[in-house]
Order: sequence, then structure tokens, then C-alpha cells
Amino acid sequence: MSIKILPPGLAAKIAAGEVVERPSSVVKELVENSIDAGASQITVEIKSGGVEHIKVIDDGHGIPTEEVAIAFQRHATSKIDSEEQLDAIATLGFRGEALPSIAAVSRSVITTRQPLEPGGFRLELLWGETVSSGAQGCPAGTAVEVSDLFGNLPARRKFLRSSSAETSRIQELVSRYALVFPGIRFQLLVDGRVSFTSPGNGLPREALLAVYGPQAATSMLEVHGEDSEIGYQVDGFAGAPSLTRANRTYMTFFVNRRWVQSRMLSYAVEEAYAGLLQVKRYPMAVVNISIPYEEVDVNSHPSKREVRFREESRVFSVVQRAVRAVLVADSPVPNLAPPLHSDYPVTVAPSFFPRSAFGSYRNAGYSHDGMPDFQGGFAGGPADAAAPRQQAPPLKVVGHLKLTYIVAEGPAGMFLVDQHAAHERVLFDRISQKPTEREPQSQPLLEPVSVELSPSQGDTLQSNRESLENYGFQFEPFGDGSYLLRAVPAIFGETDPAKSLLDVLDMTAFEGLVRQKEDVTAASIACHGAIRAGKSLTEPEMVALLEQLEATPNPHTCPHGRPTMVHFSSNHMEREFGRR
Ligand code: ADP
Ligand code: MG
Repeated sequence: MSIKILPPGLAAKIAAGEVVERPSSVVKELVENSIDAGASQITVEIKSGGVEHIKVIDDGHGIPTEEVAIAFQRHATSKIDSEEQLDAIATLGFRGEALPSIAAVSRSVITTRQPLEPGGFRLELLWGETVSSGAQGCPAGTAVEVSDLFGNLPARRKFLRSSSAETSRIQELVSRYALVFPGIRFQLLVDGRVSFTSPGNGLPREALLAVYGPQAATSMLEVHGEDSEIGYQVDGFAGAPSLTRANRTYMTFFVNRRWVQSRMLSYAVEEAYAGLLQVKRYPMAVVNISIPYEEVDVNSHPSKREVRFREESRVFSVVQRAVRAVLVADSPVPNLAPPLHSDYPVTVAPSFFPRSAFGSYRNAGYSHDGMPDFQGGFAGGPADAAAPRQQAPPLKVVGHLKLTYIVAEGPAGMFLVDQHAAHERVLFDRISQKPTEREPQSQPLLEPVSVELSPSQGDTLQSNRESLENYGFQFEPFGDGSYLLRAVPAIFGETDPAKSLLDVLDMTAFEGLVRQKEDVTAASIACHGAIRAGKSLTEPEMVALLEQLEATPNPHTCPHGRPTMVHFSSNHMEREFGRR
């Protein structure tokens, strides 16, 4: 074959391959355009994993009628107009490639209206060629509808993964953007059903709640840090060391609010947790790095998922230090020197209590899998090998601190007991006893309550149905994503039954990513049923709680692995007061 320039249609198809790899790339480009357009609300609709249909609707500034067709030409952009600007890109888009690339491999329809214009405009293209265009009334903002994706590229279409895999990529994408743009209300509809919404009220923690559920949202720590000399700023959330995951996908990074993938940034965060996590466990983190635009090259990757930093090691260090600072501040360790030789073998989950970073008994109490090893114990030695695995010390209530911690005196010093964690442990043990040994679990409702579930909550309910029923929930499908709730676990007492089910489902979905199935449901139910921090307790209630805790086989950690108690040893106190 002789060398010749390809016809434009074919060239466009090839170029489209770079930008539009799969349905989620279309969603990414369209959502980024909506963000760049200053939208405060972005709705994404997909059908069949996006192959059949994608529609992204925003309330942004729209496109002037006379520019709509231009937007679909290659290298047409309103975002940069000089070479210098390429060195300091403030928008998510800048290449002017997305719309033409998407249009080249689909049927695309755009309707758009600028807020101050009376009328809008509609343009329809098939495989990149205009089919029709003209004035059209429409809401202010822009809607781009893409259907029959890769209909003219059968090879590409064949290589797509299942529609559920594409759907989850899109869910991930939308939720990531919701995290870093808490001021934008995102909504994702999958096959006609709402799969995700974010409140868009500007509160980062509420965005976190929408994405990761109540447990992570309440327990993640806020990260702030800066390198003021060079103008870097780090903001976000990092999971407490007890909130770990089995892989790195729960670390999300943004650079100037652009979602990026970066090994370097993962390492920076992992480094911050050094000594705090068990092997093969990874933290949860959501981190945005704000950095002067000229310090970062965002034009180094076809889909802009990777970026290059001018001063990589400085970025590494500001992220690492910011995350480390909050972890250290949150840890009780600095105030709690570990006993060199404890009379009583009490400890807490190692992941929460980074002794290796501060203290001296790195090898003293933990078995190889990182869990507390009480047989080896601090007293140590083979003589203890037959000792009971765990036993809570007999504790005497001394007081109540911040309506959260029970202050108690034990055989070897002072103990602070977290009332929620302790009660969670007690309830968990109660409900996970064998059905023959336990009291009835279920508490029928006087009137059944109808509960509407999101598709993902519905999935969680279905896949955990057996254990939910086993622990006392009774429900039946009521059509259209609703369920009729007839009974709840007896331990819930008077709490709102519908809310209880939703809470338990959210927690189960979240915890289910890391734990064994049965445990997860029980842990979620226990967590929901347990007394909260901040609730005042009478002395008899505190005494009863400590007694019940002492009777459980694993009194030192809650079902999620957090410590139920921390210990201030008498030895330590004596040293601190210079008595020895
Ligand atoms: P880029 O985003 O790199 O500029 P695109 O091909 O994605 O290139 O879009 C081309 C142009 O169309 C943009 O520069 C912008 O002016 C306009 N545009 C695209 N989507 C929207 C939208 N949702 N709202 C307003 N303008 C848009
Ligand atoms: Mg764009």
C-alpha cells in the first residue's frame, strides 16, 4: 500500500479511540465539560452499561447557538487560546477533542441554551456527520445524549466488558467527582433507577457520606496541610487506621480537583500509615492537592488520568506529612506510654495503637497475622500458653467522661472504656450466638412499614437476606424497589424501623467489602443497636455494661476491630508522677 493521508472520517475514528475507550470515558468527558461549564447540578443517565444510551444534563453556562457546531470540530475549545495557557491549565478539559471523538463513534444529540438567551439549539450527529440542527426550546444548560456507542466500530464494541462492569466504572467515576465537588449535586440513573445522588450542599463530609456510607463518613479524619513556600495545599479525609481495606482502590486522589491515578501519591499516603496498618491492608483516603497550575503537567496522558509534577518529591512529602499529622493527632498513643511490663495482659487492636511507631514492644503481643496474641501475652513465655485467650479485667466504675468513655479502675491501673464500642461487642455476641442458645431476636412491628431502597441497597438486602432474617429482620418485596418491613431485631428497641434497616444495609454494604458475610450483618446490626457516644449513662448502667463486656469472649475490640478500652498502667502513672 502506498502512503496516503487517511480520509477525515477514518482519521476521526482512529483518534476517537484514544479518548473514548469505553462508555465510562464518554461519561468522564461529558461530566468534566459540565463541571467546566460551572454547573451546580449534573445528572447522568445510562442504559446497558452506557453502550445503549448515555445522557449528561447540566445547568451550566451553555453554548452560544452559533458555536455549537464548532464545538464538535477537532481541536475546538473555549478553554485555552495560547501556548502559554497550556502550561497552566485551570479547567478539566482543554484539548477540544472530546465532543468530536464521541460524535465520531456514536449517535449524539446536544441541546443547549445559555441562561440569558430566550431559546436554545439542538444538533444531532451520526458517526460524526450532522443529521439535523436548529433552534429548540430547552432548559438553561446543556444536555448531551450519546447512543449506540461504537455502533460503527464493532471491534471496539466486542472488547467491552459486561454491562455491569461498565456500570460500576461509571458509578465509581460519578461518585469520585461527587467527593471532590461537594458543591455540585450529582445524580446517576442506571437503567431508569436512581443509583447515586450527592447532596451538593458544599459540605465535603456529606459527599463522603453519600459515597461511602455513614460509618466511614463519621470515622474518617479531616486532612489539611500545606507547603506554603511553593503554594501546595492538601485537603481531604483519611481513614482511621482501623478502617482498612484489602486493596488500594479506596485511595482517591485529585490534583486541582482532577481525578488522577498516581502510584507516587498512594505511596505517600501508605507511608503516612507506616507502622499503623497490618500487612496487605490499605487505608481509605480522599485527597485533593491544590497546586499552582504551572507546577503540574496535565497533558501527558491520553485520558488525562495521569499527571506529572514538576517537584514530585515535594508533593510526596506534603501529602505524607499532612496525613501523618492527623493520624498521630488522633491516636491516643502519645499520652499513653505502653507498660514495659504489665501485670495485666490488656491491649488494643494493633492497627489502632501504633506502638511500633512510638513504643518498644513491637513483637510483644501480636501474632503473625497482626492480631493481638494473648497467649503470647505481655507477661510472655510458654507458661502462659494455656491461659484463657482473652478476659476482661474486673473493672470498677469511677466516672463518665465526655458522655462517651467510662472511667474505670482495674487491677493494674486505669481503664477508659468506649461505651459505644463496648456495647457493640456485647450486642454482637448476643445476636451471633447459635439460634438455640439465644433469646428470640425478632420484634414484630405493630404495623408493617414500607421502606424504599436504592438499587444498591436492594442488592445488599438480597445478597444478605438470610442473615438479615436470621438476626431478626422480616420483610417482603412490595414492588418497585420497596419492601414491607414486618419485624426488626429485638435489640433495636424503639428506634425508627425503616431507618434501622437503611442504616444496617448501608453499613453492611460498606463493611461487606472487607469482611465475612455473616459477621458483617451482625456487626452492622450491633453497631446500629449500640448506645451512641454522647449518651448519658447512670452508674448502674455503666456497671452493667462493664459486666456484660467482661462476659464476652473478645472484650477488647468491637466487631469492627476498634478497641473497646485503653489502659493507663499503674506503673506508667507512677513513673509519670516520679514515684519510681
Ligand atoms: P474541551 O473540553 O477540551 O474544551 P470538548 O470537545 O470537550 O473540548 O468541548 C468543546 C467545547 O464545547 C468546550 O471547550 C466548551 O466550550 C463547549 N462545551 C462542551 N460541553 C459543554 C457543556 N456541557 N456546557 C457548556 N459548554 C460546553
Ligand atoms: Mg471537554
